[in-house]
Amino acid sequence: MAPYKQLDFLSLDDQFSEDERMVRDTVREWVGDRFLPGIAEQFEAGNFPMEFVPELADLGVFGPTTPEEYGGAGLNNVAYGLICQELERGDSGLRSFVSVQGSLVMWPILEYGSEEQKRQWLPQLAAGKVIGCFGLTEPDFGSNPGGMLTTAVRKGKDWVLNGRKMWITNGTVSQLSVVFARHEDTYLGFLVENDRPGFSAPEQKHKFSLRASVTSELVLEDVVVPDSARLPLAKGLRAPLSCLTQARYGISWGAVGAAQACFDEALSYAKERIVFDKPLAAFQIPQKKLADMATQITLGQLLALRVGRLKDQGRYTPAHVSMAKRNNVAMALDVARTCRDMLGANGISLEYQVGRHMCNLESVITYEGTHDIHTLAIGQELTGIQAFR
Ligand SMILES: Cc1cc2nc3c(=O)[nH]c(=O)nc-3n(C[C@H](O)[C@H](O)[C@H](O)COP(=O)(O)OP(=O)(O)OC[C@H]3O[C@@H](n4cnc5c(N)ncnc54)[C@H](O)[C@@H]3O)c2cc1C
Repeated sequence: MAPYKQLDFLSLDDQFSEDERMVRDTVREWVGDRFLPGIAEQFEAGNFPMEFVPELADLGVFGPTTPEEYGGAGLNNVAYGLICQELERGDSGLRSFVSVQGSLVMWPILEYGSEEQKRQWLPQLAAGKVIGCFGLTEPDFGSNPGGMLTTAVRKGKDWVLNGRKMWITNGTVSQLSVVFARHEDTYLGFLVENDRPGFSAPEQKHKFSLRASVTSELVLEDVVVPDSARLPLAKGLRAPLSCLTQARYGISWGAVGAAQACFDEALSYAKERIVFDKPLAAFQIPQKKLADMATQITLGQLLALRVGRLKDQGRYTPAHVSMAKRNNVAMALDVARTCRDMLGANGISLEYQVGRHMCNLESVITYEGTHDIHTLAIGQELTGIQAFR
């Protein structure tokens, strides 16, 4: 197959600064040279390639918007978006690993943590020396985290945590969990070291999606943590929801990357594959599919970029992010399914990328707020009426 050539129909490259392009190109090259050659095998084996963690840290992709004084790269949000785009061009599992570390572990510490917590954890997380996970979802409460059953009870200077979290990315391979628990009439956030007595994180197996990503249960049985492990500024559901907004923003770019990977593969394939004595690309039906996909990918790029610029100006809202996540993931899933079809039987082989991306995107459309939940968030923004209950 031809080398990767990203679709840039409207010369969006002009819209990025030199620094933003440099960050993007560095990550793109790493994904092509280091990550893609082994991903099919990792996906089949159901592994995340942990051996790449030091290289990812050297690339500066863990919490890249974190200020340099805490070990981050201090990049802007558009550069972060471009990083997500390139990582997810590789695999949604790779982008998920990085999203959780940066947006769901480092960001809450930066936003809701004490100075001591920031100094203790952020440099180690940025360097990949500590891996973190984010425990919000429970077996019976996903879209409605307010129903959570995990509890935090004060005992002298300590807290005792009990409960079960489910579908937690990186749980089994992490050393630190951001855990949310109910306390009286509110919700609190804790930094739980995973070697605390009573804590375990068994892996959830048998996934057909995001196979190159570790997904786990978190089991908390009388886990005792000191008050210094509580995120002092995290009170109520606003805290976990604001973390999700950060991660969803990255997903809106990442989905464009997955769609780009599929489009590029299907376009090359259509030019090479001969059917009825002509290349597949010479027929009108495949051309229409390519034209539709190129248009939708371009619109997705524009949406992510606009939200990114608004975020960098401090003008974005959670509803903006809902629109970008909802549209771009649905777009990417449609593109992946169409490309899978265009490759015929080869489309279901792991020797090609389209089937793997298609399966992965079935998770991406569900996690970080399902498609329908984002529909309701946008509906609420437009009408002023919440329709969640
Ligand atoms: C691979 C993977 C990784 C994940 N990683 C993490 C993680 O790291 N941390 C974490 O905390 N969670 C994680 N999750 C969990 C994820 O965020 C939840 O699965 C998601 O929020 C949906 O919750 P649910 O699965 O309980 O579905 P439900 O909430 O039960 O939803 C089922 C269906 O009902 C619909 N629905 C729900 N409420 C409404 C409503 N009010 N109106 C209309 N329709 C509604 C939904 O859209 C969906 O179609 C992960 C999930 C997956 C698959």
